[in-house]
Amino acid sequence: MNVELINTGSELMLGRVLNTHQQWLCRRLADLGYIVTRQVAVADTGRDIETVVREALSRADLIITTGGLGPTSDDITRDLIAGLLGKKLHEDATIVRHIEEYFLARKRPMPFRTRVQAQVPEGAIVLPNPHGTAPGLAIEVTNELELKPQDGGMHSLKSSRFHPSSSLSKKLLIMLPGPPRELRPMFDSSVVPLLQRVMPLSGGYNCRTLRTSGIGESAVEEKVGALLKPLVDQGLDLGYCARIGQVDIRLAAHEKRGLLLIHEGEAIVRTQLADYIYGEDDEPLESVIVRLLRERRKTLALAESCTGGGIAHLITNVPGASAVLLASLVTYANSAKQKFVGVRAETLATHGAVSEAVACEMAEGARRETGADYALSVTGIAGPGGGSDAKPVGTVFIALASASETVVLKQFNAFDRETFKNVTGTQVMELLRRKIR
Ligand code: ATP
Ligand code: MG
Repeated sequence: MNVELINTGSELMLGRVLNTHQQWLCRRLADLGYIVTRQVAVADTGRDIETVVREALSRADLIITTGGLGPTSDDITRDLIAGLLGKKLHEDATIVRHIEEYFLARKRPMPFRTRVQAQVPEGAIVLPNPHGTAPGLAIEVTNELELKPQDGGMHSLKSSRFHPSSSLSKKLLIMLPGPPRELRPMFDSSVVPLLQRVMPLSGGYNCRTLRTSGIGESAVEEKVGALLKPLVDQGLDLGYCARIGQVDIRLAAHEKRGLLLIHEGEAIVRTQLADYIYGEDDEPLESVIVRLLRERRKTLALAESCTGGGIAHLITNVPGASAVLLASLVTYANSAKQKFVGVRAETLATHGAVSEAVACEMAEGARRETGADYALSVTGIAGPGGGSDAKPVGTVFIALASASETVVLKQFNAFDRETFKNVTGTQVMELLRRKIR
């Protein structure tokens, strides 16, 4: 099956908005087995959108467009596609009511222009938008359909006839709104069921992702690549995805037999990478931490220096974090390390702020001050300045204090500041995960 994605919006071409739909939709679709074969972003000017949709219709079975369903003058996707397919638009009373209620609930007057969002091409399926006003639209297009001729009738209709690109008798064109907070829930609640109904994949598709931390991409491949090769030869789709401080191993396969290949592959990966695996599928490390602490009814405190509260940010992104996280003290200056987590002046003078001794005192102090079961601390040199021969830029000390002991880990993360903070944050959380798993 050919799947094409068209992201519209001049802001994408001007670099003002990052095209997150590309990544998000490709990932979601791939996990369901609909692998995107082509993706294009275009400005929202008439000819461009029309041209790419026309091209996609000549090749793909499933076409998804994003953006341009709103009420402003640059929102032209709906009109253009209806025009291209020769479908009349009519106003849908249910959508008008939804838009009226949307504004009523927010005690705002309904601008007249928003009514244009209730326009639906004939035969289209309406995908409700609980988080906004513009619904998504899905149109089933049969291979017999003739497109509006290019260049205002210069070409005969016949020359624009579809070339059926596969054995499927119909194509599906789906238009989704631009704002991510509208598009994402709409995809999950309306598009996925629609695809499974209208374009089910024969034999099904399965995918398993194992997530690791503390080991590089090449080392991962060295450990599992050769052992997985026989399964890959039988149809297992194996992929490695290196992210900051983490590597994902993705095992996927079509057809029923694929599930067996995935199980066998997973067993190999689990044996080879044992301790490095912190989780699976969509569960990030911070969620694993919160889950493990909750299951064990334990609490956590943080004393962060060089990560600047980044670890607390990640942990508080997880619903339910309040059951485990008591406090995060961002003690950046030496004086703050002394005042809030009781680091001794003498320790700072003797060992320096970035040292094993200070990391220990920070963790123990955070635990003492908050009464948490575990306290993590981190102190390091993010750079680009501030390094020395003895402690070069990238040097980090991480400590974990618990009732029984305090352990310290020294790391060397010589990256740009942002990467440094992210990699270090992962290592800090990973130290705790290994202690409580
Ligand atoms: P609206 O009703 O808000 O106008 P729309 O369906 O017309 O929605 P657009 O006008 O194209 O969509 O985009 C609305 C906003 O959604 C953009 O300003 C941008 O912030 C965000 N957006 C659009 N496309 C993308 C994309 N590909 N990736 C990430 N964000 C996007
Ligand atoms: Mg818009």
